[in-house]
Amino acid sequence: MFYIEKVNNKKILKTTALKGLNHCFTTRETVIKSSEAGMEELVKTNKVDLCNYFKITEEDLISPNQTHSTNISEAKEGIKIYANTDAIILTNKTQAVFLNFADCTPVIIFDPKNNIGAIAHAGWRGTAGKIVIKVIEKMANDYGSKPEELLSAIGPSIGKCCYPVGKEVYEQLKSTIKNSDNCFSTGSGEIFTDLKKINKKQLEFCGVKQIDVCNFCTSCNNELFFSYRKENGTTSRHSAVIKLY
Ligand SMILES: [Zn+2]
Repeated sequence: MFYIEKVNNKKILKTTALKGLNHCFTTRETVIKSSEAGMEELVKTNKVDLCNYFKITEEDLISPNQTHSTNISEAKEGIKIYANTDAIILTNKTQAVFLNFADCTPVIIFDPKNNIGAIAHAGWRGTAGKIVIKVIEKMANDYGSKPEELLSAIGPSIGKCCYPVGKEVYEQLKSTIKNSDNCFSTGSGEIFTDLKKINKKQLEFCGVKQIDVCNFCTSCNNELFFSYRKENGTTSRHSAVIKLY
């Protein structure tokens, strides 16, 4: 279950599903990623607040350079730069990792037994490339994670209400799941697409049983989150952040 909490009197989003993992989704108020003019001070203040919240130094608050790939990196202590990376696996207790979103789907995965976390950036390209399946395979192969023991949360992203795609994208997304019930709605020549549901089905395909899905559509709830589509290509992002206890 997702719920709003406050850091320095500003909203963050959390879920009860990720028990044992320190995490949050930032909102417009707690933004830590923006290239827009006039946002510098807010981003700076929010980073300080978030570092205090996670009890880390700013050196240890790391974020990859996202490129809509399906490349996965492991966070390494002392390393801040992760080029061309759209999923990060966190195994150390020193760093906090964040990935940035404005309509694309954030997926957080946590292995409570091995105390390993991961965040994936699943826009349509990442979803078509089955990025969450790749993350779970890597967690299983490299760390012995068992899918049935994983806890996962699919965060705020653009909803089916607001996300029409073309036939080619539809075909690619549909091919990643066996059963596409409720993932697409057709009408007036457009195919409305539920990226959260497609990612949920990919997780289920891997054997993940505990999946919490956020109801917020970033376009419908634009006062709370950023929407690339609604805001005609904003550079501001809300973030998914994780830190191991
Ligand atoms: Zn919507």
